[in-house]
Amino acid sequence: MSGLAEARRIVVKVGSALLVAADGAADSHWLHAFVSDVARLRARGQQVLVVSSGAVALGRKRLALSRRALTMPEKQAAAAAGQSALMRAWEEAFEPHGLTCAQVLLTRDDTEVRRRWLNARATVDTLLSLGVIPVINENDTVVTEEIRYGDNDRLAARVAQMIGADVLVLLSDVDGLYTADPRRDAGAEHIARVRRLTPEIEAMAGGANARAGVGTGGMATKLAAAKIASAAGCATVITIGHRPSPLAALEAGERATVIEASTTPAAAYKAWIAGSLAPAGALVVDDGAAAAVRKGRSLLAAGVRRIEGRFDKGDAVVILDEAGIEIARGLVRYEAEDAARICGLKSAAIEPALGYTAGPMVHADDLALGRLPDPG
Ligand code: GLU
Repeated sequence: MSGLAEARRIVVKVGSALLVAADGAADSHWLHAFVSDVARLRARGQQVLVVSSGAVALGRKRLALSRRALTMPEKQAAAAAGQSALMRAWEEAFEPHGLTCAQVLLTRDDTEVRRRWLNARATVDTLLSLGVIPVINENDTVVTEEIRYGDNDRLAARVAQMIGADVLVLLSDVDGLYTADPRRDAGAEHIARVRRLTPEIEAMAGGANARAGVGTGGMATKLAAAKIASAAGCATVITIGHRPSPLAALEAGERATVIEASTTPAAAYKAWIAGSLAPAGALVVDDGAAAAVRKGRSLLAAGVRRIEGRFDKGDAVVILDEAGIEIARGLVRYEAEDAARICGLKSAAIEPALGYTAGPMVHADDLALGRLPDPG
Protein backbone atom coordinates (compact mmCIF):
# COMPACT_ATOMS: atom_id res chain seq x y z
CA MET A 1 0.00 0.00 0.00
CA SER A 2 1.55 3.25 -1.12
CA GLY A 3 -1.04 5.42 0.64
CA LEU A 4 -1.48 7.34 -2.61
CA ALA A 5 -5.22 6.72 -2.91
CA GLU A 6 -5.97 8.24 0.52
CA ALA A 7 -3.50 11.12 0.39
CA ARG A 8 -4.78 14.68 0.37
CA ARG A 9 -1.57 16.37 -0.73
CA ILE A 10 1.00 14.58 -2.85
CA VAL A 11 4.42 15.79 -3.93
CA VAL A 12 5.87 13.96 -6.94
CA LYS A 13 9.54 14.39 -7.76
CA VAL A 14 10.37 13.88 -11.41
CA GLY A 15 14.05 13.51 -12.24
CA SER A 16 15.81 14.71 -15.37
CA ALA A 17 16.37 11.13 -16.55
CA LEU A 18 12.60 10.73 -16.95
CA LEU A 19 11.62 13.83 -18.81
CA VAL A 20 14.68 14.47 -20.93
CA ALA A 21 14.92 12.12 -23.91
CA ALA A 22 18.17 10.63 -25.22
CA ASP A 23 18.52 13.48 -27.75
CA GLY A 24 18.54 16.05 -24.90
CA ALA A 25 15.06 17.45 -25.63
CA ALA A 26 11.97 17.16 -23.40
CA ASP A 27 10.29 13.77 -23.72
CA SER A 28 6.78 14.94 -24.53
CA HIS A 29 5.51 11.38 -24.79
CA TRP A 30 6.44 10.59 -21.19
CA LEU A 31 5.25 14.00 -20.00
CA HIS A 32 1.81 13.59 -21.56
CA ALA A 33 1.33 10.15 -20.04
CA PHE A 34 2.52 11.34 -16.64
CA VAL A 35 0.23 14.36 -16.73
CA SER A 36 -2.81 12.15 -17.41
CA ASP A 37 -1.78 10.31 -14.29
CA VAL A 38 -1.73 13.59 -12.35
CA ALA A 39 -5.05 14.66 -13.88
CA ARG A 40 -6.64 11.47 -12.57
CA LEU A 41 -5.54 12.27 -9.00
CA ARG A 42 -6.77 15.82 -9.40
CA ALA A 43 -10.16 14.60 -10.60
CA ARG A 44 -10.43 12.61 -7.36
CA GLY A 45 -9.95 15.85 -5.43
CA GLN A 46 -6.31 15.30 -4.49
CA GLN A 47 -3.79 18.12 -4.60
CA VAL A 48 -0.61 17.42 -6.52
CA LEU A 49 2.67 19.32 -6.61
CA VAL A 50 5.41 18.40 -9.03
CA VAL A 51 9.07 18.94 -8.25
CA SER A 52 10.72 18.84 -11.63
CA SER A 53 14.37 18.65 -12.56
CA GLY A 54 15.53 19.01 -16.10
CA ALA A 55 16.52 22.65 -16.38
CA VAL A 56 20.24 22.03 -16.66
CA ALA A 57 19.81 19.04 -18.99
CA LEU A 58 17.46 20.91 -21.35
CA GLY A 59 19.58 24.06 -21.24
CA ARG A 60 22.66 22.08 -22.15
CA LYS A 61 21.01 21.13 -25.42
CA ARG A 62 19.57 24.58 -26.02
CA LEU A 63 22.94 26.25 -25.54
CA ALA A 64 24.74 23.48 -27.46
CA LEU A 65 27.01 22.70 -24.52
CA SER A 66 28.64 19.34 -24.99
CA ARG A 67 28.51 16.34 -22.63
CA ARG A 68 31.65 17.47 -20.77
CA ALA A 69 31.42 18.57 -17.14
CA LEU A 70 30.13 22.14 -16.98
CA THR A 71 31.58 24.90 -14.83
CA MET A 72 29.23 26.36 -12.22
CA PRO A 73 28.47 29.52 -14.30
CA GLU A 74 27.84 27.34 -17.36
CA LYS A 75 25.47 25.16 -15.35
CA GLN A 76 23.65 28.23 -14.13
CA ALA A 77 23.42 29.60 -17.65
CA ALA A 78 22.11 26.23 -18.83
CA ALA A 79 19.54 26.25 -16.01
CA ALA A 80 18.34 29.71 -17.10
CA ALA A 81 17.90 28.63 -20.71
CA GLY A 82 16.55 25.23 -19.77
CA GLN A 83 14.03 26.30 -17.11
CA SER A 84 11.87 28.13 -19.64
CA ALA A 85 12.03 25.14 -21.99
CA LEU A 86 11.10 22.92 -19.06
CA MET A 87 8.04 25.00 -18.21
CA ARG A 88 6.98 25.12 -21.83
CA ALA A 89 7.09 21.32 -21.91
CA TRP A 90 5.01 21.08 -18.72
CA GLU A 91 2.49 23.64 -19.96
CA GLU A 92 2.06 21.82 -23.25
CA ALA A 93 1.45 18.61 -21.32
CA PHE A 94 -1.07 20.11 -18.85
CA GLU A 95 -3.08 22.20 -21.32
CA PRO A 96 -4.96 19.36 -23.08
CA HIS A 97 -6.31 18.35 -19.64
CA GLY A 98 -7.56 21.86 -18.96
CA LEU A 99 -5.06 22.13 -16.10
CA THR A 100 -2.93 25.13 -15.27
CA CYS A 101 0.54 24.77 -13.88
CA ALA A 102 2.71 27.47 -12.33
CA GLN A 103 6.46 27.77 -11.99
CA VAL A 104 7.83 28.07 -8.45
CA LEU A 105 11.60 28.44 -8.13
CA LEU A 106 12.93 28.03 -4.62
CA THR A 107 16.27 28.40 -2.91
CA ARG A 108 17.21 26.67 0.32
CA ASP A 109 16.45 29.77 2.38
CA ASP A 110 12.87 29.68 1.17
CA THR A 111 12.31 26.45 3.06
CA GLU A 112 14.71 27.00 5.94
CA VAL A 113 14.39 30.64 6.99
CA ARG A 114 11.03 30.84 8.72
CA ARG A 115 9.73 34.11 7.39
CA ARG A 116 10.54 33.14 3.81
CA TRP A 117 9.14 29.71 4.50
CA LEU A 118 5.83 31.20 5.60
CA ASN A 119 5.77 33.34 2.51
CA ALA A 120 6.57 30.49 0.12
CA ARG A 121 4.01 28.32 1.90
CA ALA A 122 1.32 30.97 1.53
CA THR A 123 2.05 31.27 -2.19
CA VAL A 124 2.02 27.53 -2.81
CA ASP A 125 -1.15 27.15 -0.70
CA THR A 126 -2.83 29.85 -2.74
CA LEU A 127 -1.85 28.14 -6.00
CA LEU A 128 -3.30 24.86 -4.73
CA SER A 129 -6.52 26.49 -3.60
CA LEU A 130 -6.85 28.03 -7.07
CA GLY A 131 -6.64 24.54 -8.54
CA VAL A 132 -3.21 25.13 -10.07
CA ILE A 133 -0.44 22.54 -10.13
CA PRO A 134 2.79 24.06 -8.84
CA VAL A 135 5.85 22.87 -10.78
CA ILE A 136 8.78 23.47 -8.48
CA ASN A 137 12.51 23.50 -9.11
CA GLU A 138 15.55 24.90 -7.42
CA ASN A 139 16.42 28.39 -8.61
CA ASP A 140 19.71 27.06 -10.01
CA THR A 141 20.51 30.26 -11.86
CA VAL A 142 21.07 32.32 -8.72
CA VAL A 143 22.10 29.90 -5.98
CA THR A 144 25.74 29.43 -5.09
CA GLU A 145 27.32 26.08 -4.27
CA GLU A 146 27.21 26.66 -0.51
CA ILE A 147 23.53 27.47 -0.39
CA ARG A 148 22.11 24.89 -2.79
CA TYR A 149 19.85 22.01 -1.94
CA GLY A 150 21.97 20.36 -4.60
CA ASP A 151 19.47 17.68 -5.45
CA ASN A 152 15.77 17.74 -6.06
CA ASP A 153 15.07 14.78 -3.76
CA ARG A 154 15.90 16.97 -0.80
CA LEU A 155 14.07 19.94 -2.30
CA ALA A 156 10.99 17.74 -2.78
CA ALA A 157 11.15 16.62 0.87
CA ARG A 158 11.37 20.23 2.07
CA VAL A 159 8.41 21.13 -0.12
CA ALA A 160 6.46 18.17 1.30
CA GLN A 161 7.30 19.39 4.79
CA MET A 162 6.39 22.97 3.96
CA ILE A 163 2.93 22.21 2.67
CA GLY A 164 2.10 19.32 5.02
CA ALA A 165 1.97 16.66 2.29
CA ASP A 166 0.91 13.12 3.20
CA VAL A 167 2.89 11.35 0.50
CA LEU A 168 6.11 12.15 -1.34
CA VAL A 169 6.69 10.06 -4.47
CA LEU A 170 10.27 9.95 -5.72
CA LEU A 171 10.17 8.70 -9.28
CA SER A 172 13.45 7.03 -9.92
CA ASP A 173 15.27 4.60 -12.19
CA VAL A 174 15.01 1.84 -9.58
CA ASP A 175 11.92 0.34 -8.01
CA GLY A 176 13.05 0.99 -4.48
CA LEU A 177 15.56 0.02 -1.86
CA TYR A 178 17.41 -3.30 -1.87
CA THR A 179 19.47 -5.00 0.81
CA ALA A 180 22.43 -4.79 -1.62
CA ASP A 181 23.10 -3.50 -5.13
CA PRO A 182 20.71 -5.63 -7.25
CA ARG A 183 22.87 -5.27 -10.37
CA ARG A 184 25.89 -6.77 -8.64
CA ASP A 185 24.42 -9.06 -6.06
CA ALA A 186 21.98 -11.77 -7.15
CA GLY A 187 20.93 -12.25 -3.53
CA ALA A 188 19.83 -8.60 -3.14
CA GLU A 189 16.31 -8.44 -1.72
CA HIS A 190 13.78 -5.73 -2.35
CA ILE A 191 12.45 -3.94 0.73
CA ALA A 192 8.77 -3.08 0.34
CA ARG A 193 8.22 -1.17 3.57
CA VAL A 194 10.44 0.69 5.98
CA ARG A 195 8.76 1.53 9.27
CA ARG A 196 11.70 3.40 10.72
CA LEU A 197 14.85 4.69 9.05
CA THR A 198 17.56 3.01 11.09
CA PRO A 199 21.32 3.32 10.46
CA GLU A 200 21.17 -0.25 9.06
CA ILE A 201 18.61 0.81 6.47
CA GLU A 202 20.60 3.91 5.60
CA ALA A 203 23.70 1.78 5.11
CA MET A 204 21.86 -0.19 2.42
CA ALA A 205 21.69 2.88 0.21
CA GLY A 206 25.33 2.58 -0.81
CA GLY A 207 25.58 1.70 -4.47
CA ALA A 208 22.00 0.43 -4.79
CA ASN A 209 21.12 3.19 -7.20
CA ALA A 210 23.99 4.43 -9.33
CA ARG A 211 23.72 7.96 -10.62
CA ALA A 212 21.55 8.28 -13.67
CA GLY A 213 23.19 9.92 -16.67
CA VAL A 214 21.48 13.27 -16.34
CA GLY A 215 20.28 13.47 -12.75
CA THR A 216 22.10 14.02 -9.48
CA GLY A 217 20.35 11.93 -6.85
CA GLY A 218 21.28 8.40 -5.80
CA MET A 219 19.63 6.15 -3.20
CA ALA A 220 21.50 7.90 -0.37
CA THR A 221 19.93 11.26 -1.28
CA LYS A 222 16.54 9.55 -1.55
CA LEU A 223 16.83 8.19 1.96
CA ALA A 224 18.04 11.57 3.23
CA ALA A 225 14.90 13.06 1.66
CA ALA A 226 12.75 10.31 3.17
CA LYS A 227 14.18 11.12 6.59
CA ILE A 228 13.13 14.77 6.31
CA ALA A 229 9.70 13.75 5.05
CA SER A 230 9.15 11.07 7.70
CA ALA A 231 9.88 13.50 10.56
CA ALA A 232 7.46 15.94 8.92
CA GLY A 233 4.65 13.38 8.90
CA CYS A 234 4.93 12.46 5.24
CA ALA A 235 5.44 8.95 3.84
CA THR A 236 7.93 8.53 0.98
CA VAL A 237 7.46 6.17 -1.94
CA ILE A 238 10.45 5.30 -4.11
CA THR A 239 9.42 3.72 -7.38
CA ILE A 240 10.38 3.46 -10.99
CA GLY A 241 9.31 6.38 -13.13
CA HIS A 242 10.03 5.21 -16.68
CA ARG A 243 6.71 3.55 -17.33
CA PRO A 244 4.09 5.85 -18.85
CA SER A 245 1.74 6.14 -15.85
CA PRO A 246 3.91 5.52 -12.80
CA LEU A 247 1.30 6.73 -10.29
CA ALA A 248 -1.43 4.47 -11.67
CA ALA A 249 1.06 1.60 -11.67
CA LEU A 250 1.86 2.32 -8.06
CA GLU A 251 -1.79 2.14 -7.10
CA ALA A 252 -2.09 -1.12 -9.00
CA GLY A 253 0.54 -2.58 -6.70
CA GLU A 254 3.75 -1.94 -8.64
CA ARG A 255 6.96 -2.65 -6.77
CA ALA A 256 8.12 0.22 -4.61
CA THR A 257 9.65 0.99 -1.26
CA VAL A 258 7.39 2.86 1.15
CA ILE A 259 9.10 4.68 4.01
CA GLU A 260 6.51 5.44 6.63
CA ALA A 261 5.99 8.75 8.36
CA SER A 262 7.00 8.81 12.00
CA THR A 263 4.28 11.32 12.93
CA THR A 264 1.42 13.25 11.31
CA PRO A 265 1.99 16.51 9.40
CA ALA A 266 -0.06 18.46 11.97
CA ALA A 267 1.82 17.00 14.96
CA ALA A 268 5.18 17.62 13.27
CA TYR A 269 4.23 21.21 12.54
CA LYS A 270 3.08 21.81 16.11
CA ALA A 271 6.21 20.20 17.51
CA TRP A 272 8.26 22.55 15.34
CA ILE A 273 6.38 25.58 16.68
CA ALA A 274 6.64 24.37 20.27
CA GLY A 275 10.19 23.19 20.29
CA SER A 276 12.33 24.64 17.56
CA LEU A 277 11.58 28.33 17.45
CA ALA A 278 12.87 30.98 19.81
CA PRO A 279 9.88 33.14 20.74
CA ALA A 280 10.21 36.79 19.76
CA GLY A 281 7.59 38.08 22.20
CA ALA A 282 4.53 37.28 24.24
CA LEU A 283 0.78 37.81 24.13
CA VAL A 284 -0.93 38.12 27.50
CA VAL A 285 -4.52 36.90 27.27
CA ASP A 286 -7.62 37.07 29.46
CA ASP A 287 -9.25 34.06 31.11
CA GLY A 288 -11.83 33.51 28.35
CA ALA A 289 -9.15 33.47 25.64
CA ALA A 290 -6.90 31.25 27.76
CA ALA A 291 -9.73 28.72 28.08
CA ALA A 292 -10.36 28.84 24.31
CA VAL A 293 -6.68 28.38 23.49
CA ARG A 294 -6.46 25.44 25.91
CA LYS A 295 -9.27 23.84 23.91
CA GLY A 296 -7.23 24.30 20.72
CA ARG A 297 -9.21 27.26 19.36
CA SER A 298 -7.73 30.28 17.59
CA LEU A 299 -6.60 33.21 19.72
CA LEU A 300 -8.72 36.23 18.77
CA ALA A 301 -7.51 39.80 19.20
CA ALA A 302 -10.49 40.41 21.52
CA GLY A 303 -8.96 38.19 24.19
CA VAL A 304 -5.46 39.68 24.10
CA ARG A 305 -4.80 42.10 26.97
CA ARG A 306 -1.33 43.28 25.98
CA ILE A 307 1.73 42.31 24.03
CA GLU A 308 5.37 42.07 25.06
CA GLY A 309 8.46 42.26 22.88
CA ARG A 310 9.04 43.25 19.29
CA PHE A 311 7.95 40.67 16.80
CA ASP A 312 7.15 40.47 13.15
CA LYS A 313 4.24 38.88 11.39
CA GLY A 314 4.88 35.12 11.38
CA ASP A 315 7.20 35.11 14.39
CA ALA A 316 6.79 32.61 17.18
CA VAL A 317 5.31 34.07 20.37
CA VAL A 318 4.50 32.71 23.81
CA ILE A 319 0.91 32.95 24.98
CA LEU A 320 0.67 33.77 28.68
CA ASP A 321 -2.32 33.86 30.98
CA GLU A 322 -2.80 36.85 33.26
CA ALA A 323 -0.73 35.19 35.96
CA GLY A 324 2.17 35.01 33.50
CA ILE A 325 1.96 31.24 33.03
CA GLU A 326 2.75 29.93 29.54
CA ILE A 327 -0.22 28.13 28.03
CA ALA A 328 0.85 27.79 24.40
CA ARG A 329 3.15 28.95 21.64
CA GLY A 330 2.11 30.03 18.21
CA LEU A 331 2.87 32.01 15.09
CA VAL A 332 1.39 35.50 15.33
CA ARG A 333 -0.33 36.99 12.30
CA TYR A 334 0.40 40.66 13.05
CA GLU A 335 3.61 42.52 13.72
CA ALA A 336 3.99 43.89 17.26
CA GLU A 337 2.84 47.44 16.58
CA ASP A 338 -0.31 46.34 14.77
CA ALA A 339 -0.95 43.63 17.35
CA ALA A 340 -0.83 46.27 20.09
CA ARG A 341 -3.36 48.40 18.21
CA ILE A 342 -5.92 45.62 17.93
CA CYS A 343 -5.65 44.20 21.47
CA GLY A 344 -9.18 43.79 22.85
CA LEU A 345 -10.84 44.50 19.48
CA LYS A 346 -13.57 42.30 18.05
CA SER A 347 -12.66 40.68 14.71
CA ALA A 348 -14.92 43.04 12.75
CA ALA A 349 -13.11 46.07 14.18
CA ILE A 350 -9.64 44.99 13.01
CA GLU A 351 -9.94 46.12 9.41
CA PRO A 352 -11.22 49.61 10.29
CA ALA A 353 -8.37 49.96 12.81
CA LEU A 354 -5.50 48.73 10.62
CA GLY A 355 -6.79 49.01 7.08
CA TYR A 356 -6.42 45.24 6.67
CA THR A 357 -7.12 42.07 8.55
CA ALA A 358 -5.07 38.91 8.78
CA GLY A 359 -7.71 37.05 10.79
CA PRO A 360 -7.18 35.90 14.37
CA MET A 361 -4.11 36.96 16.30
CA VAL A 362 -2.90 33.34 16.22
CA HIS A 363 -4.75 30.79 14.11
CA ALA A 364 -5.58 27.43 15.72
CA ASP A 365 -3.47 25.66 13.06
CA ASP A 366 -0.43 27.64 14.16
CA LEU A 367 -0.87 27.01 17.90
CA ALA A 368 0.99 24.42 19.93
CA LEU A 369 -0.17 23.66 23.46
CA GLY A 370 2.51 22.96 26.04
CA ARG A 371 6.06 22.07 25.05
CA LEU A 372 6.43 19.14 22.74
CA PRO A 373 9.65 17.35 21.86
CA ASP A 374 11.51 18.54 18.77
CA PRO A 375 10.98 16.01 15.96
CA GLY A 376 14.61 16.52 14.88
N1 GLU B 1 17.62 21.48 -10.34
C1 GLU B 1 18.36 20.71 -11.32
C2 GLU B 1 17.74 20.86 -12.70
O1 GLU B 1 16.61 21.20 -12.84
C3 GLU B 1 18.37 19.23 -11.02
C4 GLU B 1 18.76 18.77 -9.67
C5 GLU B 1 18.40 17.28 -9.49
O2 GLU B 1 18.03 16.63 -10.45
O3 GLU B 1 18.49 16.76 -8.38
O4 GLU B 1 18.37 20.62 -13.67
